[in-house]
Amino acid sequence: MTTRLLLATRNTGKLAELQRLLASAVPGVEVVGLADVPEYPEAPETGATFTENALLKAREAVRYTGLPAVADDSGITVDALNGMPGVLSARWSGRHGDDDANTALLLGQLADVPEERRGAAFVCAAALVTPEGAEEVLQREWRGRVIHEKRGKNGFGYDPVFVPDGLELTSAELRPAEKDARSHRGRAFAALVPVISRVLDAG
Ligand code: IMP
Repeated sequence: MTTRLLLATRNTGKLAELQRLLASAVPGVEVVGLADVPEYPEAPETGATFTENALLKAREAVRYTGLPAVADDSGITVDALNGMPGVLSARWSGRHGDDDANTALLLGQLADVPEERRGAAFVCAAALVTPEGAEEVLQREWRGRVIHEKRGKNGFGYDPVFVPDGLELTSAELRPAEKDARSHRGRAFAALVPVISRVLDAG
């Protein structure tokens, strides 16, 4: 029998990534997105941490749909800004999801910060919640540094100004599969796969 698992997102890239990861590992699970279930009112992300926001989103998805649900929350934490923008990454410039304005503001804030203090990390928390009340959440980081000017056309958000440790390319210059294999989100989803397998099998 196939179990439906809701990934609480409208992002088709995230959906495809989790579908790919689960297809071979947990063949009995069909991953669907928010576009595949009746619409429900999505609460704003009010949590103080990535894990709190991921859990809030997954719990809300279970409450409205009755399906087991996975949700993620992510952002960039910049050392020279004491970990900000953090959970406020998507709305750093004041407009939710305005990638160009968010990136421009970050570059302006860091304009005089020297190379050795431009460290940063992308962070992703991924949560699984079931209607039976099981809750699992885990977090992965991708360390790197913020450069001075945008480079690359792939990805989204702060990708054009983030150079991962050990690489010379920005994450917007990596091919999508290369980014998925290394990134905070790719590794958080990959780490959640055995958890999904265990929890859904047990249910
Ligand atoms: P979320 O959709 O609430 O998880 O917000 C994520 C925000 O963090 C995005 O709007 C981006 O600004 C930033 N972000 C998270 N992950 C990435 C990434 O992989 N590349 C670039 N920016 C990211």
